[in-house]
Amino acid sequence: MKKVLVLEDEANIRSFIVINLRRYGYEPVEAETGEEALDRLRENPDIGVALLDVMLPGIDGFEVCRRIRASGAKTGIIMLTAKSQEMDKVTGLMTGADDYVTKPFSPSELIARIDALYRRLGNSQDDAGGVLISGPFRLNPANRIFEKNGERIRLTQTEFAIMNLFMTHPGKALSRGDILSAIWGDDYAGELKIVDVNIRRLRIKIEDDPTNPTYITTIWGYGYKWGS
Ligand code: CA
Repeated sequence: MKKVLVLEDEANIRSFIVINLRRYGYEPVEAETGEEALDRLRENPDIGVALLDVMLPGIDGFEVCRRIRASGAKTGIIMLTAKSQEMDKVTGLMTGADDYVTKPFSPSELIARIDALYRRLGNSQDDAGGVLISGPFRLNPANRIFEKNGERIRLTQTEFAIMNLFMTHPGKALSRGDILSAIWGDDYAGELKIVDVNIRRLRIKIEDDPTNPTYITTIWGYGYKWGS
C-alpha cells in the first residue's frame, strides 16, 4: 500500500486526514511533532508523500521540509497551510515542497493532490527518456540530475517535471493551464497560481538574474516559454 506521512499536531484534524487516507487506499503514518515526523521517515523510507502542517510546537513544517530535502530524500511534500498565512511568505518558505493545500480543505481535494503527486513520482521512474541539453542546462531523466554549466541544481519532483516539460518544448508558448494539466493532471482541483509559485522558485534556482529571467520567459496574460 502507498504510505503517506501525516504530520499534524491537532489530533482531530490528524484523525480526519487518517480516516480519509485509509478510505482511499493509502496507508497513513502519523506524527504529532516535526521531530517525530523525521523519525517516522527514517523508519519508513518507502513513504512516498509527506503532508506537513506548518504551525507546530517545536520545529515547524517548513523546517521539517528543509531537513527532508537536505537529506536528499525524494519524498513528495505537500504543505498544509492556514488561510491567514500570507502567500508570498509561504512561497518563500516552501522551497523544497511540491504542493500546498490551504486549510480548511475537503477530503476529495486533499486526496486529489496526493494522487497527482504519487502519479508524478511514479511517472518520473517510468518515462525516463534521453538526456536533454539546452544552453548551459542538462537534464537527465534517468538519474534525475539537473545541471547548469556542469553544476548540479537540486530540484523538487515538481520542478524537475516542469523543466522536463520546458526542455522537451523549447520555444513553445505554454499556457498556465497547459502546464497545470501536464504536471498536476487534468483532474487537479487546485489553482493556476501553483504554476506561478513553482516558476518563481525555479527562476531563483536556474536564472542568472531571477528578476530579469532569460531562460523561462513570461508571456503576459498567457503563460511561459522556454527561451526567448
Ligand atoms: Ca498545527
